[in-house]
Amino acid sequence: MQKIGVYSAKPYDKSFLEQAGKDQDFVFQFFEDSMTEEMASLLSGVEIVCLFVNDVINRPVIEKLASQNVKLIALRCAGFNNVDLKAAAEFNIKVVRVPAYSPYAVAEHTLAMILTLNRKTHRAFNRVRESNFSLNGLMGFDLKGKTVGVIGTGKIGQIFCKIMKGLNCHVVAYDPFPNEEMQKAGIKYHSLEELFRQADIVSLQCPLTEETRHLINSESINRMKDGVMLINTSRGGLIDTEALIKGLKSKKIGYLGIDVYEQEENIFFNDLSGQIIQDDLIMRLITFPNVLITSHQAFFTEDAMKNIAETTVMNINQFLKGDKLENEVKAE
Ligand code: NAD
Repeated sequence: MQKIGVYSAKPYDKSFLEQAGKDQDFVFQFFEDSMTEEMASLLSGVEIVCLFVNDVINRPVIEKLASQNVKLIALRCAGFNNVDLKAAAEFNIKVVRVPAYSPYAVAEHTLAMILTLNRKTHRAFNRVRESNFSLNGLMGFDLKGKTVGVIGTGKIGQIFCKIMKGLNCHVVAYDPFPNEEMQKAGIKYHSLEELFRQADIVSLQCPLTEETRHLINSESINRMKDGVMLINTSRGGLIDTEALIKGLKSKKIGYLGIDVYEQEENIFFNDLSGQIIQDDLIMRLITFPNVLITSHQAFFTEDAMKNIAETTVMNINQFLKGDKLENEVKAE
């Protein structure tokens, strides 16, 4: 029976994939380790590998996978910025992904970050547990009437726009491909510069590409309103972290919520509570009282996990049967 090597596998991946993969013509083999050149060279008898967001699938890894006869990389995520697609094509390895497992999960987590930062419920929770019922330092603001700037109005961005509209916010957007339905719903598209000028809250919902890497840098931060709230639930590389820290220190950025971090590969998804963390930037970010960090959990709902597992099983079956790969991603 075909074996599918599942890497960066956590207990929750195992239970959802096993459930979705019952009675198939293949079996999953789970490995907690992420995919590296070394892991790739240890593969044997595996034609299909199933990988996640922080597996770095660069040219050397792809060369190794090809030398071990791997034919398909089944990503169990939507973003594919971590894969060298050109190298995959050169080595005749197909790449499939899960394009939309639950845009609601990510959009709703974005809202959770905004509300937590604004109303400081995380601090209230800790205070009350210590019988501290004081309100000092917990003041927030009404979201009603505030301007939210959404960068990227794809599947997640559109749902997020509707959520914020529902909270009576004024929503403006930037996307190189404006969406008609959003425009009809009263969302105005502007240049990035204008969005930064207007927005009280800036939220990133666009993919990480060559063009969007460090979209948020010293220059763009300077264009934002004083005390702006910045939220990133998309990809860490969209933000220049050093510029972010400067922006927080100067109080230009009043609130920061990030579910993703540029150097997250060796940090997120792991329990490092007993270790000395060497990454000074994330440690500095953690010290700010107005920064909320979650470790890439925006997607993490039961509904999303079920969809990821079911789509992954479908993607693998399409490949095994030689059918058209509905969710294939290719180099441009
Ligand atoms: P999508 O492909 O449906 O939409 C992306 C949108 O971004 C498109 O409308 C596209 O035109 C726009 N875009 C492209 N280049 C842009 C640019 N330079 N500036 C502004 N907009 C640009 O993708 P989606 O499903 O909405 O997901 C968006 C991103 O969210 C993904 O690329 C992924 O990185 C991230 N994501 C994060 C999590 C998480 O758990 N934190 C989960 C899923 C997805």
